[in-house]
Amino acid sequence: MSIPLPLQDMTVLPHDNSAAAIPPQRVAVAWQEKEIFDRIRRQGEATKAELVNRLPYSRTKINQCIADLLEKGLVKTAGAGDYTGGRRAVTYSVNGSAALVAGVDIGATSVDLALADLAGKIYARLGEPADVRDGPRLLLGRVGELLEQMLAGGGLARQRLLSIGVGVPGPVDFKLGKLVSPPIMPGWDGFPIIATLQERFPTAHVAVDNDVNIMALGEKVGGAARHVDNLIFVKIGTGIGAGILCNGEIYRGSNGCAGDIGHICVNKEGPICRCGNIGCLEAMAAGPAIAAAAQKAALEGKSPILLRHYEANGGFLRPEDVGYSAGEGDPVSIDIIRNSGHLVGDVLASLVNFYNPGMIVIGGGVSKIGNLLLSSIRQVVLHRSLPLATRDMRIIFSQLGDEAGVTGAMALAVENLFVVQGYSE
Ligand SMILES: [Zn+2]
Repeated sequence: MSIPLPLQDMTVLPHDNSAAAIPPQRVAVAWQEKEIFDRIRRQGEATKAELVNRLPYSRTKINQCIADLLEKGLVKTAGAGDYTGGRRAVTYSVNGSAALVAGVDIGATSVDLALADLAGKIYARLGEPADVRDGPRLLLGRVGELLEQMLAGGGLARQRLLSIGVGVPGPVDFKLGKLVSPPIMPGWDGFPIIATLQERFPTAHVAVDNDVNIMALGEKVGGAARHVDNLIFVKIGTGIGAGILCNGEIYRGSNGCAGDIGHICVNKEGPICRCGNIGCLEAMAAGPAIAAAAQKAALEGKSPILLRHYEANGGFLRPEDVGYSAGEGDPVSIDIIRNSGHLVGDVLASLVNFYNPGMIVIGGGVSKIGNLLLSSIRQVVLHRSLPLATRDMRIIFSQLGDEAGVTGAMALAVENLFVVQGYSE
């Protein structure tokens, strides 16, 4: 499989296919051009009349932006030449061949990759188990191998890969693209992820972000939050974190750690958290806390159902086992899940009053526990938040599930191709 050669006048592309020392310049677009590009990309194709109807710009402005997008090779006419004498309007679509982009979602125990063209057509998708504790050199080396494999499999030249978006499970200084003291990633602190990947793919821009941020972005571009501009995506897994979308864009805060809700204190007499503080939400409601409470109940003889799962697993329990046991009617499991949901709901209720999001999406491994967790979270949020804040707000499970990260990483890669300039009228 191969895709057509990129347009020659596309400023973002290296004209010479020999390996460049630095990535080519990003494409400069006016703010309105970008909005029109995004709209066309989302719809697949659009006519000028549709764009005039749906965007707050004059026909003249739309004409000018489309002309600029055509000239930059970002958009192409679709269906031109198909006329049979009627008055069919010209439609425009994104010029997929202008760039290849890759999304890389590095989890604590897995790595997921996808390769797509600029229009969003997926060429390859790969995933395999991985251990971030193996360190960045080994893991990013493997990421490089897998990307090369995907390019070769599609008969695609590596020079056409112009952007890579990477999600990692730890706090990221987004401007530097580096992890800052990640608790579960020894050896990654300050490691130059961008430079390492660019050494292997010199034509590609690389952006690195926290995994929850890219999950939020994924849900926005391809999941349940397509029409939501203010979103909180909560990942409940080994830890708890939130990605915040504000006016459709990731809100990272001053240093990149906005949304780190797992370390909000929910009980001053609670257990010690891995961060060193006491009674953090994460220490009391995330996957390990759920599994530990269930294991304790099983071994103390309080739940024969949990004990059965414990023994069937060979001496351990996972959060989903607690979900299965709750489904079988085990009151202890139901209590454990409700307790976790209520703690998460308490924190979210405060966030709802503070931020007034249009939607809260719950994702991460622990969300596989099922509806009891979701209903417990909902119950507290609706009870504890201001009625006006919850009137139109939905709290749902992630629609993309395990695909949220890689989808968001690809969206990050696309965004990172552009330099968006201010208003021009
Ligand atoms: Zn903590």
